Amino acid sequence: MKIPFSPPYIDQDVINEVVDTLQSGWITTGPKVRALETLVADITGVEKALCVNSWTSGALLVLKWLGVGPGDEVIVPAYTYSATALAVLHMGAKPVMVDVKDDFTIDPEKVRLSMTAATKAILAVDIGGWPCDYNSLNEIVKSDAVAAQFTPANEIQAKIGRPLLFSDAAHSLGAIYNNKQAALAADITIFSLHAVKNITTAEGGVICLNLPAPFDNTEVYSWMRLNTLNGQTTDALTKSQKGNWRYDIVSQGLKINLTDVCAAIGLAQLRKYDSELLPRREAIFNLYTSYFSTKDWAVIPPSVAEGVKSSYHLYLLRIKDITEQQRDAIIQLMADAGVATNVHFIPMPMLTLFKGLGYNIDDYPVAYDNYAHEISLPIYSQLTDEECTFIAEQIEKAYLAVVK
Ligand SMILES: *Cc1c(COP(=O)(O)O)cnc(C)c1O
Repeated sequence: MKIPFSPPYIDQDVINEVVDTLQSGWITTGPKVRALETLVADITGVEKALCVNSWTSGALLVLKWLGVGPGDEVIVPAYTYSATALAVLHMGAKPVMVDVKDDFTIDPEKVRLSMTAATKAILAVDIGGWPCDYNSLNEIVKSDAVAAQFTPANEIQAKIGRPLLFSDAAHSLGAIYNNKQAALAADITIFSLHAVKNITTAEGGVICLNLPAPFDNTEVYSWMRLNTLNGQTTDALTKSQKGNWRYDIVSQGLKINLTDVCAAIGLAQLRKYDSELLPRREAIFNLYTSYFSTKDWAVIPPSVAEGVKSSYHLYLLRIKDITEQQRDAIIQLMADAGVATNVHFIPMPMLTLFKGLGYNIDDYPVAYDNYAHEISLPIYSQLTDEECTFIAEQIEKAYLAVVK
């Protein structure tokens, strides 16, 4: 058997939607992008959703809107994909890394201890689609103590009056928190539409705006949309219409718009996400769980709790009492058996860039422990039950071979 880790979901409906775009005469930002934004807003319940060409560029835009720069701090978990911290570094600000909990998500107690007068945002990550403890994070950013030391540097920051609760939901489109869509738990949430995520546009992202009053999310959307297109007042589609040639540049915008060709892929996928693709992911997750729950060496990843439900993006299996080297050996045996597995993630303090900036993995013992025992199994809707059983059996075989 040859089982890839995370191939994109491309069916005839996806192909038809892309071909329709190609034949429409309009291939960059236009009706398909707007339709995708509307569908994301409908599904998640947020007031406004804005498509961009990646999660990363969306994060830059949000931090630019917030006016985050040199001297500012943004709290991030040590255990995430590096884009989370890189977005902060790109703005000239400092990512303040904190350790995670056993469930892989940012530890609110560590966040509380790391809040300073320079903290402008908490950028929390829903690892594998499992939502962070947003109730605690909301309580922290909205506490009197935090508000008292918060020092706004511009009108937007003053209007919030506290650090922004910003969600890296690259994995968690469709996740549930407090019995509602998880995108309603933070001020701003960004989903990634990268090729390996639950819904993809090859490369892409969606910014979901859920800012509290007195913010007008439609107004913020308009500012952000302008700044995905060079700060230009008239977009290319509008300009292409008769007599609409004149434009102005009113802000030093980025150029990070999503194209209609790419949006078409995600649009066709998203239409069947709730009814087909997400339930199938859940079924695969549960199949693995029923296999591993009888093994005393396996640690089952979190997926449901009171009012909380994962988007089943990753199956973050952990194996008890093994070393990092034994974990790597299991991954090699899986590859030999034709199954691509992965590790999510190498904690950032173990990577060259961050080591050079002074971060040290010894300060993040839970992140290291989660990493050293973790193996991500394939999980996507095209997998058959037989393939899942094969993968689970191969893991057991590899584990027994390695620990003997
Ligand atoms: C994929 C990913 C990103 C980056 O998404 P892009 O769309 O590739 O920029 C950010 N954070 C996490 C946790 C991710 O897994």
